[in-house]
Amino acid sequence: MNMTDTFFKDFPEANVYRESHIQDGGLTFFMMRQNLDQFLVIQGERKLLKDLPFEGEEVSVDGASFLKCPLSANNARALRERFPFTRPVLIGKQNSYGLGDRLGNAGAAHLKVIRKTDFKPVLAQQSIRELERTNRTAQEVMDAASWAVFREGYKDGFGADGDHLKTTDDIDLMMKSGFAMFTIDPSDYVVNEALSMNDEDLQQLYKKLPWEELQDHPADFLDRKGHDSIRLKSGFELNPSHRSIMQGMVKYGRVITHTKKLADYISDNYPNKPSDLELSVDETDQPTTVFEHYLIASELSRLGVELVSLAPRFCGDFEKGIDFKGDLGQFKEEYEDHLAVAEMFGGYKLSIHSGSDKFSVYEVIGSLREGAVHVKTAGTSYLEALRTVAEADPGLFREILVFSKTRFDDDKKTYHISARPEQVPDGDSLKDEDLKKLLDDNNARQVLHVTFGSVLGGNSSKSKNMKEKLMKCLSVNETLYEQNLVSHFDKHLRPFVQKN
Ligand SMILES: [Zn+2]
Repeated sequence: MNMTDTFFKDFPEANVYRESHIQDGGLTFFMMRQNLDQFLVIQGERKLLKDLPFEGEEVSVDGASFLKCPLSANNARALRERFPFTRPVLIGKQNSYGLGDRLGNAGAAHLKVIRKTDFKPVLAQQSIRELERTNRTAQEVMDAASWAVFREGYKDGFGADGDHLKTTDDIDLMMKSGFAMFTIDPSDYVVNEALSMNDEDLQQLYKKLPWEELQDHPADFLDRKGHDSIRLKSGFELNPSHRSIMQGMVKYGRVITHTKKLADYISDNYPNKPSDLELSVDETDQPTTVFEHYLIASELSRLGVELVSLAPRFCGDFEKGIDFKGDLGQFKEEYEDHLAVAEMFGGYKLSIHSGSDKFSVYEVIGSLREGAVHVKTAGTSYLEALRTVAEADPGLFREILVFSKTRFDDDKKTYHISARPEQVPDGDSLKDEDLKKLLDDNNARQVLHVTFGSVLGGNSSKSKNMKEKLMKCLSVNETLYEQNLVSHFDKHLRPFVQKN
């Protein structure tokens, strides 16, 4: 019988996470669960335990000494110092999956799925908007990822994505918490009106672009790009008119200079912290045309900005929490064109934002045998948490449902969705065993999806109480929650794995 078995003989209500078990420097480390809480446990000689940077309670069982440590911020820091695999790494241009975890308790299940594939996990993935809505700090998000990695004994490297960053302050915040991937969101600089302007206005604005920052001249640029006749690998021919060059530059010129500014800020201020850079232009009114993508990519490349991934706004609708709506044939054609552009400028990944539950899109991408992809999901894990609650605590689920419906009109504002809340039945009209079916209904999914912030981050005592009950329910039903996450994410990964 080894020491951990001895330990648990005396703590029968505790569960050890066997995958976490590690011997290091004469000590044994593992994670366990006792009642509703998780701990890091370290076993070894007392004098060794005393010198550790971990904080915890000393426990002695049958003459063996243990340190029982809460999953605190200090202990997460000490963990990352001791075990390099609990620190985020650069993922680069390999296939990867963003696994946003707004509750901070889904990471281990995510890893169980991802480790069966050759995708790299990006675990700590949170935008500034999500942090605000869930009332969490970037450090808490990072710590949850480190603990998940340790608990699963996952040593193949994970990424950490500061998502939709708009300012240098956003970058500083994420950098301070150890994030290693930065997704720049220059959407405030997109000029959508460029598409409907008359020639005169367009020329005016074109001339007024920050040409110094672009390190170019308006006439030279037009002349050069006007002579670019390029046939992409996909067969698409780029043969832009002067008007479409000016339109493209008026629409995206300041996107290019802002991205360059933030990229320079990172390399100037953090020369010793290499990072992966993504550019997201997914939150715009109109789809990104192939030419616009080409324009952005060619100019960033000329200005020395190297991207690991780029998120175009694709055709069709990528609504939150449900499958793609639109023409899949058109999507496939455009995706291959975008892929050909990415290949011309370093072979960066195409990034699929609002990637939760876009099963038909995964099928298309999985069927292509070229290019690399990054998929971002987040809300779908919260919905699996709610599926678990629907199964385990129908009363609590009804409470969350009623509350979410009242919050919907306010909370939906910044999201791209089409749900009709009046179509979502009241919990009271459904039998307990039918509640979980709401998690398969598009209207209910979206109503529950966009109101996560009110449930998780609200300051009223009602929402604080609701969050507490939700977290407790997931902790009590840890195995069911994990099963729900694993079977749901198997569906997310399967279409890509077919590829091999
Ligand atoms: Zn996005």
